[in-house]
Amino acid sequence: MNTVEYVWVDGTKPTKKLRSKIRVFDFNGTATGLPSIQDPKALWHFDGSSTGQAPADNSDLVLRPVKSYNNPIDNNVIFLCEVLNHDMTPHTTNARAALEDLAIKTKSLKPWFGLEQEYYICKNGQSIAVEQLHFMTPDEGAYFCGVGSEYVFNRDMIMEHLNICVNAKLKISGANAEVAPGQWEYQIGAADPLTVSDDLWIARWFMERLSERYNVTINYDAKLNKSYNGSGCHMNFSTEPMRDRLMPCEDICQKLSEQIQKHLDVYGHGYEQRLTGIHETAFYKDFTWGISDRTASVRISVDETYIEDRRPNANMDPYEATRVMLETCCF
Ligand code: ADP
Ligand code: MN
Ligand code: MN
Ligand code: MN
Repeated sequence: MNTVEYVWVDGTKPTKKLRSKIRVFDFNGTATGLPSIQDPKALWHFDGSSTGQAPADNSDLVLRPVKSYNNPIDNNVIFLCEVLNHDMTPHTTNARAALEDLAIKTKSLKPWFGLEQEYYICKNGQSIAVEQLHFMTPDEGAYFCGVGSEYVFNRDMIMEHLNICVNAKLKISGANAEVAPGQWEYQIGAADPLTVSDDLWIARWFMERLSERYNVTINYDAKLNKSYNGSGCHMNFSTEPMRDRLMPCEDICQKLSEQIQKHLDVYGHGYEQRLTGIHETAFYKDFTWGISDRTASVRISVDETYIEDRRPNANMDPYEATRVMLETCCF
């Protein structure tokens, strides 16, 4: 049996979610029966009326596979798909198509992104730590990169996730326990914009899939709990001229300062709640930058070869966030 998990991004508002359904390929009853992603036989359909993507009276949408991944959890294959209309034009919820266009246009600059995906592992709508802890240490610094059951929750799950991502050959570069109890982070990249965005969506899918087994939920809310750090997705960015110090990071920050709202619009629902000026954020209305400054909206790396936009939320769509970064900084 050859099973393929078709994974796509839906139209849920205000934050898109992942969907997937399984297709059995059994052309010749052989293990070679799987089509390549370019094969017209790989195209598939789904009911867009149940995913926030179509009205019920005109519900069929097309799934076009764009990348194939091994799925070590189910020992099968994942086809990451983009959503198309019947006429094979990109659906309005398909933010990947526009990123692909821009990635081609900016390719000569060799842009790299590194995305730091934060999230809470939750039970009953609260951090899993609330259930497991008998007391909370008020000092959030105690949990960051912590070790020991007093400070760290569900490490087995996040290690399993990390190994799955490595085995699936995602561009995952690390993971750490975060500042708030029950909060974690992993990093995708550095890599080109399409690769990091595709790999982040697949890493999120693996985490959701694992959450079924661990009987927990994964929470990407910008601000789950007012008293603790929200969840972000810091976006690290450079181009070859920046890495070669031919294009100063300060010039890039100047460009960003002229497009504040355009960026916030695609940095995820609820950024106003998270970017308050406390809990390691800068107030969203005040755009600031500084070398090695983690209180700023944008940190310039100490060697001044890349920037870290600290504003994107954990719930952002990487296809949109990286596209806007390219639009602002590569022209
Ligand atoms: P932080 O110190 O902010 O927690 P992390 O180590 O968690 O940073 O994440 C940094 C991310 O930035 C990683 O994914 C890393 O690969 C990426 N990165 C490093 N150098 C560059 C660069 N020159 N351009 C883009 N991304 C980069
Ligand atoms: Mn980090
Ligand atoms: Mn972090
Ligand atoms: Mn960071």
